[in-house]
Amino acid sequence: MLALTMGAVIGPAVAVVTQSGIPTAVGAGLAGSAVAFVFTARRWLRRYWLLRAETSAEVREVLAARVAFYQRLSADEQREFERNVRCFLAEHTIAGPQQKPVSDETRVLVAASAAILLFGREDLDLPSRIDVVVYPEAFNEEYEVKRKGEILGQAHSQGPVILSERALREGFSRANDGQNVGIHEFAHMLDLEGARFDGTPSGMDGASARAWAGLVHGEIARIERHRSILRQYGATNEAEFFAVASEAFFERPAAMREKHPELYELLKGFYGQDPAARASKG
Ligand SMILES: [Zn+2]
Repeated sequence: MLALTMGAVIGPAVAVVTQSGIPTAVGAGLAGSAVAFVFTARRWLRRYWLLRAETSAEVREVLAARVAFYQRLSADEQREFERNVRCFLAEHTIAGPQQKPVSDETRVLVAASAAILLFGREDLDLPSRIDVVVYPEAFNEEYEVKRKGEILGQAHSQGPVILSERALREGFSRANDGQNVGIHEFAHMLDLEGARFDGTPSGMDGASARAWAGLVHGEIARIERHRSILRQYGATNEAEFFAVASEAFFERPAAMREKHPELYELLKGFYGQDPAARASKG
């Protein structure tokens, strides 16, 4: 089971960086302050230099060995994906509880989870404040780590994202079962509307958002009637539906396109990607 908690939030700053790494635009969220602007400008500058660096062999090896999404990309797309991974690794702290270090492989899998979601949308970004805490196993409501703990991950609206390392690794080793805790939790972070996860992704255009609202409850009802390819947890509420649908979109795209064509088209538009077409190319 995956849980979701909410809290207060300061509006995120949004940086747009072109494929070549040159900043093209900036907008600020609710904070809208000079501080946010300076922070965002520094983020750009760091990215500008970062994107010119080489990807280390170690990062590339983890992606090639463990990330099915990366394996299906063309060589050029793989370089772009690597840049997104490097940006995430440079901009977000990824550590265990009490800042204990985690393995490089785990850090790359965390960054890859976010990079998968952002791959087709240069204008979409995760809030820079997100840090990631990696617990070795699942945990309970008191954040006690339990081998049979019920919580695999949590997204907090003002950070951090918490992930079970075991669940993260399993998510990537079973890449077509529609369950990936990294994709799930970072999808929640794309769904922030002010302080709330409301189930309608915030970067969705108006017409698509209306179409999404018109479809969500019918799709949740299909899950409840066991007539959906989405796993049962997606019927919890609208926010969980979006996160679970995102997992299936990337891990079971052909099945979603066949059984839920409208849902597939909306997610294809939102994520700027067509994973079913990519999968069918082999
Ligand atoms: Zn969730």
